[in-house]
Amino acid sequence: MKTTCVNMDTIHEENIQVQQLSSWLPNLTVDLLRLDLIHPIISGNKWFKLKYNIQQIAALGCTEVVTFGGPYSNHLVATAAAAKEFGIQSVGIVRGEFDEAQLSPTMQACKDFGMQLEFISRTAYRQKNEPEFLEQLQLKYPKAFIIPEGGANEWGRKGCLEIYPFISEKYTHICCAVGSGTTFAGLCNAAAEHQQLLGFVPMKQGRYLENDINNWVSSERSKNWLLLDEFHFGGFGKYDQQLIAFMNQFYHQFQVPLDFVYTAKMMKGIQILAEGGFFPQGSRLLCIHSGGLQGNNSIKSYLDF
Ligand SMILES: *Cc1c(COP(=O)(O)O)cnc(C)c1O
Repeated sequence: MKTTCVNMDTIHEENIQVQQLSSWLPNLTVDLLRLDLIHPIISGNKWFKLKYNIQQIAALGCTEVVTFGGPYSNHLVATAAAAKEFGIQSVGIVRGEFDEAQLSPTMQACKDFGMQLEFISRTAYRQKNEPEFLEQLQLKYPKAFIIPEGGANEWGRKGCLEIYPFISEKYTHICCAVGSGTTFAGLCNAAAEHQQLLGFVPMKQGRYLENDINNWVSSERSKNWLLLDEFHFGGFGKYDQQLIAFMNQFYHQFQVPLDFVYTAKMMKGIQILAEGGFFPQGSRLLCIHSGGLQGNNSIKSYLDF
């Protein structure tokens, strides 16, 4: 395969670091893998999900990328930024009909990166993975490479295998926020057998994702992972006072900004689990900071950072 034409000047995998959260939780070692430091927008797991998709686009000679997301989607804005960076056109198919005059900060950022936005009804959006729908879309955008919502394809999962080399085998638990499950599945396929993977799904009844993840995780890796969906704080994209207070307090203690949709809910969930005795004494946890900080723009006034 051709090597990618990726402009690596602005993508900084070398910035990734493991930060110790010293004495955060009693009798546990907790470290944070700072994938958020790669790039302000193409950050965290989004870069890993996009890298082989971009390589594919280059290899196929496509000049355009089409992908999907909701109005606050980190994946959409990361794709918009990456497309701009790599000199290709981008189209975002957005769930729900919106007043163009009242775009969410994420949608505005997508537009600013040059993404063409197409708003479709929630009903139409549900067909996003149907072959007939995708055929029509391909006819409309003949030069486009189509990436599913959340970068949830084989190239996305392949890229996420590359997160694992940043994780030492000394950890007993790897904690990861889950949206589509692409990142989590990649990690499950890469992790050592003794390591338990905990996926924090920030939506009500999110454990339905077990089916997809089962399909994506190779059978010999299928035993040692678990999804937790109780730490949703009201539902996907919702928040409450407890969560906001936790984010501010965590920032003051460790100078780490968390995003309210994914990583704050995961870290608060880990704290609650630890207080309930979930982790055996001496466990060594590696938590993945999967980025997504641009999403905090919609709750900026509540945050101390
Ligand atoms: C998109 C996103 C996730 C979810 O990733 P999936 O691979 O879709 O499960 C987790 N954390 C953050 C910060 C994200 O932006």
